[in-house]
Amino acid sequence: MYNNLRFIPEFSIDELESIQLKGLQWTLNHAYKGCMAYRDKLDQAGFSPGDFKTLSDIVKLPFTDVEDLRLGYPLPLLSVPQEDIVRIHASSGTTGKRKILAYTQNDINTWKNMMARCFELADLTPMDRVQIAVGYGLWTAGAGFQLGCEHFGAMALPLGPGNLDFQLQFLTDLKPTCICSTASMALLLSEQVVKMGLEDQIALKKIIFGAEPHTPKMRQTIEKTLNLEHSFDIPGMTEVYGPGTGLECLKHQGMHYWADIFILEIIDPLTLQPVPAGETGEMVITTLCKEGVPLIRYRTRDLCRILTESCPCGIKMPRHDRILGRSDDMIIFRGVNIYPGQIAEILEEFNDISSEYQINLNRQKGLDFMKISVERKVNASSDNDEKLAQRISARIRSKIMVRTEIVLADPGKLPRSMGKSRRVIDERNNT
Ligand code: AMP
Ligand code: ZN
Repeated sequence: MYNNLRFIPEFSIDELESIQLKGLQWTLNHAYKGCMAYRDKLDQAGFSPGDFKTLSDIVKLPFTDVEDLRLGYPLPLLSVPQEDIVRIHASSGTTGKRKILAYTQNDINTWKNMMARCFELADLTPMDRVQIAVGYGLWTAGAGFQLGCEHFGAMALPLGPGNLDFQLQFLTDLKPTCICSTASMALLLSEQVVKMGLEDQIALKKIIFGAEPHTPKMRQTIEKTLNLEHSFDIPGMTEVYGPGTGLECLKHQGMHYWADIFILEIIDPLTLQPVPAGETGEMVITTLCKEGVPLIRYRTRDLCRILTESCPCGIKMPRHDRILGRSDDMIIFRGVNIYPGQIAEILEEFNDISSEYQINLNRQKGLDFMKISVERKVNASSDNDEKLAQRISARIRSKIMVRTEIVLADPGKLPRSMGKSRRVIDERNNT
């Protein structure tokens, strides 16, 4: 399926374990020597870097999380002298302050390689033209795709996000074969292509979607509308360089991730213990060669599971499933814990609605209310709205035990986004 791989290395399990052990020992020494916060953390856990003898010792290491990044603002967990830093990137933190991550030149090179591996997995060639329709500047997305695209040798069209007219003009004039964007942006573009009747003037074959979860329905809609050969989910986060910690392969059965560059553990977010192989939990990442800001057991809050079988594509790098959402996205509604992804999954069962949805929460007379707006599929009649709303509501009630009001909207009426879609609007504290 894949021949003559240039960027993706092939390791046996033994080789990979040896790289991981050496990388972990290096990271512990490096962080211990270079960063006071890490030294304190490891000292408090009664651990000195020399104690680390086998990979299974990883569970004895303390966790790091977003609080450590907040405490160290503006340059948290910096483990090299400042003159070795060549760049920073940032993402909006949930705590209000930005998470700023610092990179050495070696970090940039590692990231460049990771991203080039992604383009290789997506089976691009130097003949491909890649429209990069994600944020540039402080954000990692644009920089990451661009670095990787150039290193891989394809042609980068660095448009950035937004400006639909501009995106469409490039799609028809430069005829990119691949676009990198959020799934929300891809949906908006695909709708716009149809609206303007441009289907025959574009040459897109592939889309790489990142930065937010998307449902299979959303993806099929985009693939069908744009007549794509493939689309790929790309995971990543600013803390771990940026986009490109892995990618789906041509078999589309989960994402291969770069286990020679970081170790992925899945833990139970309540007990903090590893979950049994293949079960869903929180992704915890330990980097193996990151210099500027190494991560030791960093709690990402992303929920996912590792896929344990080998992949039919033949690539041996391990795989994880798609990211289901973030543990901090959990809604507590009348005492029930709900993830937006659970609602999205139920909505997927209904063929008469599109992939788009928005959840509104408010409080009336001290009680929580949930309204879910969904869109009727194009060409579907509104005559059945009432019955359909009742069916959806009943299904949600039976599956997650909550009462909801379902509102059917006309196709295209829910807000569209050129970045990450906001699926939940919680106004309970304002009402
Ligand atoms: P940022 O650091 O701003 O790039 O945001 C990273 C976060 O975006 C991750 O922790 C995930 O919660 C989310 N994310 C990134 N890529 C994906 C993806 N492919 N699927 C689902 N969520 C994603
Ligand atoms: Zn594969």
